[in-house]
Amino acid sequence: MADLREDVSKMRMALTFGVMGLLTVLSPAFLLAAENHHPQQITVNGKNYDWPKSPVVVVLIDGGDPAYVNDALAQGLLPNFKKLMTEGFVSVAVGAMPSFTNPNNISVITGVPPSVHGISGNFFLNPATGQEAMMDQPQFLRADSILAKFSEHGAKVAAITAKDKLAKMLAYRLQHGISFSAEKADKCTKEDNGIDNCPAYVGKPLPSAYSADLSLFVLEAGIRILEREKPDLMYLSLSDYIQHKYAPGSKEATEYYVGIDKALGRLVGLGATVALTADHGMNDKSKADGSPNIVFLQDLLDKQFGSGKTKVILPISDPYVKHHGGLGSYATIFFHQPISAPAVMNLLNKQPGVELVMNRAAFAKMFDLPADRIGDLVVVSDRGTVLGKSKATLDLSGLGGTRLRSHGGLADRNVYLIFPRPLNDKYAEIPDFPPAVKR
Ligand code: ZN
Ligand code: ZN
Repeated sequence: MADLREDVSKMRMALTFGVMGLLTVLSPAFLLAAENHHPQQITVNGKNYDWPKSPVVVVLIDGGDPAYVNDALAQGLLPNFKKLMTEGFVSVAVGAMPSFTNPNNISVITGVPPSVHGISGNFFLNPATGQEAMMDQPQFLRADSILAKFSEHGAKVAAITAKDKLAKMLAYRLQHGISFSAEKADKCTKEDNGIDNCPAYVGKPLPSAYSADLSLFVLEAGIRILEREKPDLMYLSLSDYIQHKYAPGSKEATEYYVGIDKALGRLVGLGATVALTADHGMNDKSKADGSPNIVFLQDLLDKQFGSGKTKVILPISDPYVKHHGGLGSYATIFFHQPISAPAVMNLLNKQPGVELVMNRAAFAKMFDLPADRIGDLVVVSDRGTVLGKSKATLDLSGLGGTRLRSHGGLADRNVYLIFPRPLNDKYAEIPDFPPAVKR
């Protein structure tokens, strides 16, 4: 445990350094700042960011486990990734816990960990209302977004996401910016999104929510916006549909990464400074026979302590059930009635595949989470295991018979952090940068 704690302290906020470091590395910008009457540097959530000298584009490959890039690179298929990685900076970093989409996207756009920005999952039990809710509304944010703050100082900012679950938070307080989700691109209005009729603007039909095209639409939108609007700062967040469905080295995954690589080449060709990262990795969570490897937490707790005593929440939950069937490697447990926490921890620790069980305070402290937005206990499963509620209510029809691939745990945090230039001396002032990867 001591080793883990030390490792974690070195790793935390890994992703958040991405954007901060990127802007720091790119922009002396003194003369430009004076000419255009914008500040040379702005402060967001206590950190300083230089004004971009050229358009800065941050691409977040949702579920972008390094294994996908490594496999396609080994086949010689990603020339633009290769160029960025050999001429610039590359490290494998670790994302925030839980290794889900919303906490990590928000860490990137705020530069602070979930304990500060408040987004503890895709889904949570809201202590203010006692209701379970998607964590997709700006009202849950407790920190400023770097995107919004730059726009308030006059920067042209665009934030495009594949899945609509991030759209409202990315757009929050954006001034005169462009912001929409590929999923709802047909609903764009100039007033709400900065562009009318996004499919026509992008030149592609509305993509399916369950397709590689959803992400490629985001990249194509970024290219069009870069060509026409010359933004100062652009954030492009993709979908992990392909990584949930297909392993590294599969034809589908390789084709997807080749598509991303081509788009990167075009963004760079248009003069953008392109940085890449991901929100989390992705691992196979199935047994040898192909069935999902699930620990049913609510069944275990009800059997041992009686029903109604505890409530299991799965913070991976979102509307995209074909991706993961609501199963990830992180769960929280609320106690509805007095119950012995050590007894619960003892029971869960005995289950094969359970990697870590901690109480609220200890987990929040170790992983920089907001203690009021996680359960009385937190459970994390290992690389090959997911956590479910009850066997009787499980619905895997959305998976369509494919092996379950998912994320959420400690083993699913590894992501690439790629900048187009080597680090400058300012990075020496950032504690623990680049973040170490120990697992
Ligand atoms: Zn994700
Ligand atoms: Zn996912």
